[in-house]
Amino acid sequence: MLELRRHKAAFCKDHLLEHLQNQVRKTIKEFKMLQSGERVLIAVSGGKDSLALWDILLDLGFLAEGLYIDLGIFNYSQTSREKCENFARYKGAKLYVASLPEMYDIGLETIGRGVSRPFCSVCGIIKRYTMNLGAMKKDFPVLATGHNMDDEVSALLGNLLQWKPGYLYRQAPHLPPRQGLVRKIKPLCRLTERETAAYCFIKGIDYILEECPKARGATSITYKEVLNRLEKESPGIKDQFYLGFVRKGRYYFKEEEEIKLNKCSFCGQPTGAPENCSFCGLMDKAGLDPLKITEAFDGKKRG
Ligand code: AMP
Ligand code: ZN
Repeated sequence: MLELRRHKAAFCKDHLLEHLQNQVRKTIKEFKMLQSGERVLIAVSGGKDSLALWDILLDLGFLAEGLYIDLGIFNYSQTSREKCENFARYKGAKLYVASLPEMYDIGLETIGRGVSRPFCSVCGIIKRYTMNLGAMKKDFPVLATGHNMDDEVSALLGNLLQWKPGYLYRQAPHLPPRQGLVRKIKPLCRLTERETAAYCFIKGIDYILEECPKARGATSITYKEVLNRLEKESPGIKDQFYLGFVRKGRYYFKEEEEIKLNKCSFCGQPTGAPENCSFCGLMDKAGLDPLKITEAFDGKKRG
């Protein structure tokens, strides 16, 4: 039995699975995320959330394929990749892999050092770029990530504490496509970490337990701890905070005029910057060819 205090209910294994799938189905419907049977690319990290998401979307009848970005973070990336490959094989689903070590012979650590920027920011730039590029190149109308409610609530708290209006408006469970950016959805935004872990446990989904070694000490972890303390005192408070925000609050942060996106003069992908996108800028600084990744998705290979 698993007790979910915020729903004032306890579930046996079978009913828990049904409940969690229903929560995802409801979220997809409320935020008009997917049409029935639609093709969707899931960014999978090998962790519990994205693999649970892949499993649920396949069970719900969507044509869900995966994209794993191998950042070359030593054993961590190796193990995460294996978890994704094993899952894909078991389910008979297609997995695309974009691998920094295979394309560039180096990993995130070396790139980060070369550009003297924090790893998490370099990682974020590479992942966001690759996810969008992969979805566009492989003709997916939509990209799904495994962000769960705890991720979203802690990001929300961080964005509020630092008053980032643009980020607040864009923190949505469903972002429509615009100017070269694919539509993005977060169908697990109503499930907590504990719930996605329980889902994987019951379904026998093998995921990487370890957190990214580079993320240790991240502020988001402190926010999650604080929010869990609040939740313990007032069950349901995270739900209220998050759902209130996405249903009403975020619209207060809508800009009068949307920031216009330009085409990166190097790779052609969308960017808010006047010339080069942050990915091309980063790779150029690290002495690497940004176009290799585009060519890898196109199935071309250069030495
Ligand atoms: P994170 O940014 O690590 O909290 O991960 C948030 C979401 O981004 C995950 O649920 C995945 O959907 C996606 N993601 C994270 N890391 C990767 C990766 N290496 N490859 C593909 N998708 C990823
Ligand atoms: Zn670019």
